[in-house]
Amino acid sequence: MLIVLLGPPGSGKGTQAEKITSEFDLAYISTGDILRSAVKDNNELGRKARQYMDQGQLVPDDLVVDIVKVRLMDAEGKKGALFDGFPRTVEQAVFLEKALPELKVTLNMVFSIEVDESELIKRLTGRRVCSVCGASYHLKFKPPKVRNVCDQCGGDLYQRDDDSLETVQERLEVYKKQTEPLIDFYQERGLLSPIDGNQDIDGVYKQISSVLGEL
Ligand code: ADP
Ligand code: AMP
Repeated sequence: MLIVLLGPPGSGKGTQAEKITSEFDLAYISTGDILRSAVKDNNELGRKARQYMDQGQLVPDDLVVDIVKVRLMDAEGKKGALFDGFPRTVEQAVFLEKALPELKVTLNMVFSIEVDESELIKRLTGRRVCSVCGASYHLKFKPPKVRNVCDQCGGDLYQRDDDSLETVQERLEVYKKQTEPLIDFYQERGLLSPIDGNQDIDGVYKQISSVLGEL
């Protein structure tokens, strides 16, 4: 089983992924998390990816596709996998479609999480992330119990470099140009499930989990 979370930056993909993967026994594959960890380690992938990420641009397809191949093979033993932030271009989606038979994986559903732009800006600029486990918080909408401390692991929270207002605006433009065409791509294949992401976190999860429960 393979599930994709599609949606603009700040639409709640990571937040929902945390809930979905724990309830439905799916491996969590976030290309953004994998790339940030490579940047932190300053390894070859991180050195190549950093310049794009800092500017709010997408990392080249070939780098991302290599990551995904490896991670999907590692997902054996679970019921399947959940992609957050991949695919993000039509080229990546075509790669995935071609790779699925060889990987013996079926793409079951693509959830398109839709959120108004003004709300996205508020969510992204107020986002705080755990430096240890990657859990996502928000200053107003999902504050941790103790200021700047992760509820789950006690790690320090930080603000992502690309969550500054200027870079957020660039990322939203990049989403519209390069990722939004995937909505039609998956609609044409009968795989798209639109989700109203303007609801509160539990409301969004209710909508997603009721569709997943039917699969
Ligand atoms: P994405 O992974 O799509 O970029 P996140 O899951 O990190 O988005 O969410 C972005 C920010 O918005 C985080 O600070 C998160 O706590 C907050 N958030 C997520 N879902 C909601 C929601 N439904 N309502 C309000 N805030 C939300
Ligand atoms: P995210 O954590 O999903 O918001 O991703 C953060 C950044 O990582 C993006 O702005 C891109 O620079 C890069 N990135 C993540 N996933 C992809 C992808 N599938 N293709 C290209 N770049 C990506």
